[in-house]
Amino acid sequence: MAEYQKPLPAPSEVSRPFWDGLTAGELRLQKCEECRRHIFYPRSLCPHCLSQRLGWVKASGRGTLYSYTVVRRAMNPAFQTDVPYVFAIVQLQEGPRVTTNVVNCTPEDVQVDMPVKAFYDNITPEMTLLKFEPA
Ligand SMILES: [Zn+2]
Repeated sequence: MAEYQKPLPAPSEVSRPFWDGLTAGELRLQKCEECRRHIFYPRSLCPHCLSQRLGWVKASGRGTLYSYTVVRRAMNPAFQTDVPYVFAIVQLQEGPRVTTNVVNCTPEDVQVDMPVKAFYDNITPEMTLLKFEPA
């Protein structure tokens, strides 16, 4: 297997459960134990009520496409073989929005508000990225 040439995420102590979830094939989100809202990206304080009482829950992995663009010129040479690809913002069923890629379809198949589901892209034995595909 060829070595992965693109930049890799660097999980922090706070975000580690998110990355471990992806490796296990599930989307895990923080949920505030005070105001009950889901949170993305992982952090130490609830962005809605500033509570530090945040837990982790398994999310549905379902959402809709909020916005997207088609990348036709790679800004990093490591992505040159991927163009054209879809850079997107997905509105999760649980509320938060996630910056991601839509894969397993052509850019022409993509449209705003389309239903999407999580796709777990195992890029290395230790790292899985959250992407989405048509539902
Ligand atoms: Zn809260």
